[in-house]
Amino acid sequence: MSPATTLTQSTLIASVPKQLLIGGRWRDASDLETFDVEDPATGRTLTSVANASVADGRDALDAAVAAQAGWAGTAPRERGEILRAAYERIVERTEEFALAMTLEMGKPLAESRGEVAYGSEFFRWFSEESVRVHGQWSVSPDGKTRLMTMRQPVGPVLMITPWNFPLAMGTRKIGPAIAAGCTMVVKPAQQTPLTMLLLAELLTECGLPDGVLNVVTTSRTAEVCEPIIRDPRLRKLTFTGSTQVGRTLVEQSAEQLLRVSMELGGNAPFLVFADADVDRAVEGAMLAKMRNIGEACTAANRFYVHEAVAEEFSRTFAARMAATVVGKGTKKGVTVGPLIDAKAVEKVTELLDDAVAKGARVLTGGQAQRGAGHFFQPTVLTDVPTDARMQKEEIFGPVAPITVFTDESDAVRMANDTEFGLVAYLFTADLARALRVSEALEYGMVGVNQGVVSNPAAPFGGVKQSGFGREGGFEGIAEYLETKYVGIAL
Ligand code: NAP
Repeated sequence: MSPATTLTQSTLIASVPKQLLIGGRWRDASDLETFDVEDPATGRTLTSVANASVADGRDALDAAVAAQAGWAGTAPRERGEILRAAYERIVERTEEFALAMTLEMGKPLAESRGEVAYGSEFFRWFSEESVRVHGQWSVSPDGKTRLMTMRQPVGPVLMITPWNFPLAMGTRKIGPAIAAGCTMVVKPAQQTPLTMLLLAELLTECGLPDGVLNVVTTSRTAEVCEPIIRDPRLRKLTFTGSTQVGRTLVEQSAEQLLRVSMELGGNAPFLVFADADVDRAVEGAMLAKMRNIGEACTAANRFYVHEAVAEEFSRTFAARMAATVVGKGTKKGVTVGPLIDAKAVEKVTELLDDAVAKGARVLTGGQAQRGAGHFFQPTVLTDVPTDARMQKEEIFGPVAPITVFTDESDAVRMANDTEFGLVAYLFTADLARALRVSEALEYGMVGVNQGVVSNPAAPFGGVKQSGFGREGGFEGIAEYLETKYVGIAL
């Protein structure tokens, strides 16, 4: 968008590319199909974008394969500087990216700005990492051979991203791939393609060579992705999304024994111990529960609160939840946007009804909002029994179930009683307890006295059915590198 244009919904939508980016060229789908993008706050269509066909998917992979050798041969500094320039441009264009995310995904503008800051940081972090890829040199134990290892780019990567963080889930894959020297085909979620299209345009403006990043927006998702995954020229699949889809993709990737990274669903426990600072715990609970309208893989899904502080915590938390302002994310003062679609509202309602039928009590909220858009009242439930479905399933909405405990060991046992293992939160003033419980929690990440763990400089990822692989931190770039060993006889 030209700097002279005033940013409004219509100027932004008009300025976003709506075609596929393949081999450096923007083009329509080969059969000229398009699909609509909806505003979840109104249910109205924002615009439509190219609907890639199977042939377009193959063209995108062709382009990534053709660009791979040249891209791998560029200087690390050159790759890093493209990322650094892109980081700066995203920050300069914060308002555009934020508005695009709010319109297509629903989160309030302030949160979208937060995602711009968080998402762009992956480019800054990996611009710095691009020049710090090291190998090793050693002498074999018998002294007769020199052992050299080098790190090389894995090769063309397919990236499939979800709708809940339209920018950050892209940048934390694209950043390390660019830094490592990999080319890629990116398939954003069909509900939120606009942010990725804006990002792709920005990267080309920053000098990313043709074919390094190819973007295919499509509603024919499985049809387009499966042939790419089964193509022997693809070297890696990285996926962020639901465990159910992740499982299918792992099966498909077995044929070519692809390198795979899976960032899947969560069911985060949030533990508040008797010695916790309750105000701080409530502050953390608001972040862990309400960031992204509860639609985050890291969202606190179950609250376990010690009986000594349960009443105070529940009352204060419910009051904070009741004071939130639900509405369209572009409206001033709104702190909670709509859920992504009608299906999401239906699922949250079902889980809530199930918990109430089994004996849970509603402290605040308790239903979807009538009228246009997919709004749900921020809700706190107490006395939630362990057999309620929401104790096992990802809620992905603004509902907080509280269960009271008396023993630390019970709390840990309940926290671990899930097939997921992405993140857990704990609040305590006792350092020994913080360490003891962190060690006992079967999770890839633990937040101690804080409700957010995401940080571009830290390794993000889960265990068990939350997936494998890490994004961000020193580990993030390793996912895009192979180790080659060269043995040199003397
Ligand atoms: P989803 O339904 O699994 O979709 C994620 C992506 O996969 C979308 O781009 C989707 O495309 C694509 N997809 C769906 N079916 C596919 C198939 N058969 N083959 C290839 N691609 C396919 O998940 P979601 O509802 O968008 O996102 C929410 C989930 O993501 C939650 O479970 C959340 O916990 C998880 N998540 C995890 C992390 C993490 O880092 N661990 C981060 C964010 C979200 P379409 O849009 O076209 O369907």
